Amino acid sequence: MRGTVLHAPGDIRVEDRPDPKIVEPTDAIIRLSATCICGSDLWPYRGIDGSDGPAPMGHEYCGIVEEVGSDVTTVRPGQFVVGSFFASDNTCEICRAGYQSSCVHREPVGAIGTQAEYARIPLADGTLVATPEMPPQDMVPDLLSASDVLGTGWFGAEAAEAGSGKTVAVVGDGAVGLLAVLAARQLGAERIIAMSRHEPRQRLAEEFGATEIVTERGDEGAQRIKELTDGLGAHSVVEAVGTQESMMQAIRSTRAGGHVGFVGVLHGVEIPGQEFFFSHVHLHGGPAPVRRFLPELIDLIWNREIEPGKVFDLTLPLEEAAEGYRAMDERRAIKTLLRP
Ligand SMILES: [Zn+2]
Repeated sequence: MRGTVLHAPGDIRVEDRPDPKIVEPTDAIIRLSATCICGSDLWPYRGIDGSDGPAPMGHEYCGIVEEVGSDVTTVRPGQFVVGSFFASDNTCEICRAGYQSSCVHREPVGAIGTQAEYARIPLADGTLVATPEMPPQDMVPDLLSASDVLGTGWFGAEAAEAGSGKTVAVVGDGAVGLLAVLAARQLGAERIIAMSRHEPRQRLAEEFGATEIVTERGDEGAQRIKELTDGLGAHSVVEAVGTQESMMQAIRSTRAGGHVGFVGVLHGVEIPGQEFFFSHVHLHGGPAPVRRFLPELIDLIWNREIEPGKVFDLTLPLEEAAEGYRAMDERRAIKTLLRP
């Protein structure tokens, strides 16, 4: 099969990779209907996450089940499925508490690499959720987004306790930040402030439910949020970037007693202890337990209540993955969908 491999920073190639086979009786093989490039794929692409040798890329996926192992009971060949970027058994104590991305048996799908024609998905029963029927073509990008960016934005909004009567601020205008705006609206937030300096992203944020836009960033951005909230700060802030500046922007935009949901993968972030101590801000986040939200998200998409696939503003054949990475790296594209 064809699949994407990162050879060195900036060096993405689509090449022949071995066809995946059932290894464990709990595995499924899926044929990808669509896959995509994640903001977090840009960290190794830019050489910020060290890599040792060629690595298959991609952890977002949806597609049609080709084959299942002998122990798989909940999905069968021919079904259209969506799964999370961590395979999980969905039965252990951590999974049952809703933290499937910390499952005691979790396996990172990124190590398998779903920017490819086929993928082996471990723990298929606990990981994959089938749609009611074969989806129409135009719904595939929406379902693909549920595999990571929608589920991650949703977790960010939930971790920030976005909800009825709340003012929610979102730091980061990538796909996850934009979908955190959508999630905050679905969860009933009263005001949703998107922090973005890029006009097309501001428009999409408004389409997804943002009521205000703040263009300042860093401490100026936090100051602006305070001005908009009677000097108090937002009740709920979603951090969807992962840098020192964005994390402090999130914490400093939050009122005492408020919540930060952080879902950008943190790189080199240090939180000053004493400032944090006196802030009275709750911090909760980490790798989103997307599997917890998948059934609900698939329902919302299936009923056409949300259209999260709008974050894909570039669609390319899998063979042109390198251009997809470049476009996202240069911020010419919010998110690239790849068609195997
Ligand atoms: Zn588990």
